[in-house]
Amino acid sequence: MLFLYNTLAHKKQKFEPIKAKAVSMYACGPTVYSAPHIGNFRAYLEQDILRRTLQHEGYKVTHVVNITDVGHLVGDANLGEDKVKLAAEREHKSARAVADFYTGEFTKDLEQLNILTPSVMPKATDHIKEMLSLIEALDKKGYLYKVPTGIYFDTSKFKEYGKLAKMTFEKLNKYLKAGARVERAAGLKNITDFAVWRFRKRESADDMVWDSKWGEGFPGWHIECSAMSMKYLGETFDIHCGGIDHIPIHHTNEIAQSEAATGKKFVNYWVHNNFLTVDGGKMAKSVGNIYTISQLVEKGYSPIAVRYLLISAHYRKKINFTLEALSNSANTLNGIYSFLQRLSSLESSAPLDKEFKMLAEEAHSKFFKDLNNDLNLPAALSAMHNLITETNRKMGHDLLSKADAKLVLEMMLELDSILGLQFEKNSKQDKKEIKGKIEKLIEERENARKAKDFKKSDEIRELLKNKYKIVIEDTKDGIRWHKEV
Ligand code: AMP
Ligand code: ZN
Repeated sequence: MLFLYNTLAHKKQKFEPIKAKAVSMYACGPTVYSAPHIGNFRAYLEQDILRRTLQHEGYKVTHVVNITDVGHLVGDANLGEDKVKLAAEREHKSARAVADFYTGEFTKDLEQLNILTPSVMPKATDHIKEMLSLIEALDKKGYLYKVPTGIYFDTSKFKEYGKLAKMTFEKLNKYLKAGARVERAAGLKNITDFAVWRFRKRESADDMVWDSKWGEGFPGWHIECSAMSMKYLGETFDIHCGGIDHIPIHHTNEIAQSEAATGKKFVNYWVHNNFLTVDGGKMAKSVGNIYTISQLVEKGYSPIAVRYLLISAHYRKKINFTLEALSNSANTLNGIYSFLQRLSSLESSAPLDKEFKMLAEEAHSKFFKDLNNDLNLPAALSAMHNLITETNRKMGHDLLSKADAKLVLEMMLELDSILGLQFEKNSKQDKKEIKGKIEKLIEERENARKAKDFKKSDEIRELLKNKYKIVIEDTKDGIRWHKEV
């Protein structure tokens, strides 16, 4: 039974989906004007853990992540240029080319981080028709008004405006007025009002501008998420995710326009992740404190170590990013991989130890109990590390049988169906890898050791580690090696 903190209810609640065996889940996707940074991926990783948890509970999950390729303005507010259009001017490319390139970067990084591919990744530019019919519905109900720059939603007309942020319409207005970065478009009735359609004349054939009965232009960022989520998941769906930065504006506006148009509740559970920070401040492109996956890979870090670091804190707590913390995560992962390899090569034929089995089962059930308690991964991971410690202790005393090891291995692989840390792939010494140069170097080192040339054997060990990331261990059962992340 899964409990989730629901921002809309402002408390932890038992998760009860609309359909018995299926879950509909939407997450605001990237604005494809630059490479996404690992702060963005903190959000997608949290959603990945949630999806894997739901799947482990037996639900079929329809997971929609949109691609914002038009409509997201600089500063998130009502004024300023479209981010993709600006990037196109900067890079001397068409907006389409820029959007396609960064969509490709996004999907490549998803794969490198072992994030399950979303069921649908709809592009905003492919859903203009759906957005226009939603705008039409709002117009018919009298929620819209026209100003020189576009068609706006009158937030004072939506009775429950601000409920997600636990604010009233008046309080949110005050909150936005206090924020220095929010400018006011000419003719706006309330500072909280937002554009559903922005006017712009087509400048070239491939310009991201469409005709509408209100005039040429392009959709507002908020209307995109409402139109695409409802198209694929229905007018009311189970879970909507995103970072906490989206609570007071983007998600508040998605609720207002969706519920105003349909007269139905838009989403049952809102799940928000906290920030990845650097020196205490949010990691953000506008601040210039970002790291991308490819920058980290270039520095020699592995994407799976990034995954481990970002999932190891509770999703509702901040994580402060440092390269040192990332190195520590890689070390912990390497420790787990070498543990798994030792387990899979154990040969003792003694029977399964019943007492040990009970201890392992306790750790296993604690892992899932903590996970189902609002995805408490720090607690779940500590149950896993306790299991590793106990198993290592038994192995160290030569008391772990092959049957005990098999049980722990199977459990670890099940935990990894949630964690996604590639335990299976790293639990075997891949014989294909130890080929050519590496095989020869290991042999040379062995010969040097036998000849008591420890200087040479240490040099080869260092070379293997620094150049090939191969770590050699001399155990009483012979040489063992593993590849580090
Ligand atoms: P954006 O492209 O700005 O809409 O961001 C995509 C997703 O990443 C949203 O869910 C944001 O809330 C989330 N996000 C952006 N920056 C961070 C950060 N530093 N830490 C965690 N999540 C973030
Ligand atoms: Zn959204």
